[in-house]
Amino acid sequence: MSLIDEIMDFNQKFVDAEEYEQFFTDKYPEKNLAIVSCMDARILDLLPRALGLKNGDAKVIRNAGALVTHPWGSVMRSLLVAVFEMHVHEIMVIGHYDCGMQELHVPDMLDRMRARGVSDERLEILENAGVDFHKWLTDFDSVEDAIMHSVNMIRKHPLMPSEIKVHGLVIHPITGKLNIVVNGNKI
Ligand SMILES: [Zn+2]
Repeated sequence: MSLIDEIMDFNQKFVDAEEYEQFFTDKYPEKNLAIVSCMDARILDLLPRALGLKNGDAKVIRNAGALVTHPWGSVMRSLLVAVFEMHVHEIMVIGHYDCGMQELHVPDMLDRMRARGVSDERLEILENAGVDFHKWLTDFDSVEDAIMHSVNMIRKHPLMPSEIKVHGLVIHPITGKLNIVVNGNKI
């Protein structure tokens, strides 16, 4: 059975059995919290469980590396919508140890693109057009530095109200243990 068939099959049973009832909530996050975290599959369920969050408690935005890389990008837009439209008062950027973006080696990824049919010529055209692959793919050396950078990007955004608390944390992808990088209450 293909994955989509498997999921559709499960979904029909889930809805028929009214299992959704346990998830009832509204669109405003109960804890007035928004989280920016990584797409890593190990923390799909571990992250909310380790933070004691249930369905409805927080807005969660995920991408590769838990990164806020651009002041006018989609993560920042989502955070501003969360603050101005969804009653969010606190933001947590939660990166994790052993992140794929930390180990990302841009030349290797470009090689993998070449192996999948992207020509040197096309890469060159993009580079000449101003695409800096190293910058755009945003590999980082230190997860703490990356989190700090994202926290500052949010805190210093010209549209972000100054009373919004912005925290930075790192989660262990196996134990769920959290370490604080920036405590927004102490800034
Ligand atoms: Zn990651």
